[in-house]
Amino acid sequence: MTDNLDYRILTFDQPTQRDFTRFVRQTFAPEDEVLLQVRANAQAHGLPAIDIRPEEGQVLQFMAMVIGARRILEIGTLAGYSAIWLARALPADGQLITLEYDPRHAQIARENFALAGLSDRVDVREGVALDTLAQMDADPTPFDLVFLDADKANNPAYLTWAIEHVRPGGLITSHNVFREGHLLDQHIDASARGMLDMLDMMTTDPRLISTIFWVGDGFATAMVRA
Ligand code: SAH
Ligand code: MG
Repeated sequence: MTDNLDYRILTFDQPTQRDFTRFVRQTFAPEDEVLLQVRANAQAHGLPAIDIRPEEGQVLQFMAMVIGARRILEIGTLAGYSAIWLARALPADGQLITLEYDPRHAQIARENFALAGLSDRVDVREGVALDTLAQMDADPTPFDLVFLDADKANNPAYLTWAIEHVRPGGLITSHNVFREGHLLDQHIDASARGMLDMLDMMTTDPRLISTIFWVGDGFATAMVRA
């Protein structure tokens, strides 16, 4: 052991992290025509380009497949790009529910799910996520995976809800752990605060075992213990 915090931290100039990211994207996460079209549609409608990156989508898809996910909940749909990566991990009778409060985003996402041939598997629910989640309390069917990617200030509340609604061995994962580099800024905003509080829950709640998948902007991921 060492108390030197610089102990084997990965730092290099050549090749750059950019080169490795490009390599991983090309080898493990090539986008097909549908994914390319979905991003083009989002751009044509003037939506912000804040969907997950291909190599992040592939990691999400991997998580879902490894646990044999049949029922997935996503909070934060945008144009449906991440939902398509996830829904493609589902069996034919699987289901992905995705929550979105902007009706325009929801509409574009529905068109993209049709384009991807996934309309039968994906259900877009419009409304403020905390309200929709409260309505969903009536249905006790557990989820295998919950993906948090909306307003990160509410991540502690989303995590609290998810712990109660994910089966043992299921996963709860949040995008944007590193807040695109701003997580550790001196003056943090409500989103970074929410992320830090959620990370604190993930590392201390005895019901969870957690890690960070360090791809893209990072996935903080918790498994609900059996
Ligand atoms: N997961 C998407 C990106 C989501 S961007 C992808 O990677 O492809 C975040 C989305 O969450 C936006 O569309 C925004 O409108 C929605 N959102 C933000 N706060 C929300 C809330 N409280 N309830 C529901 N949707 C919300
Ligand atoms: Mg995100």
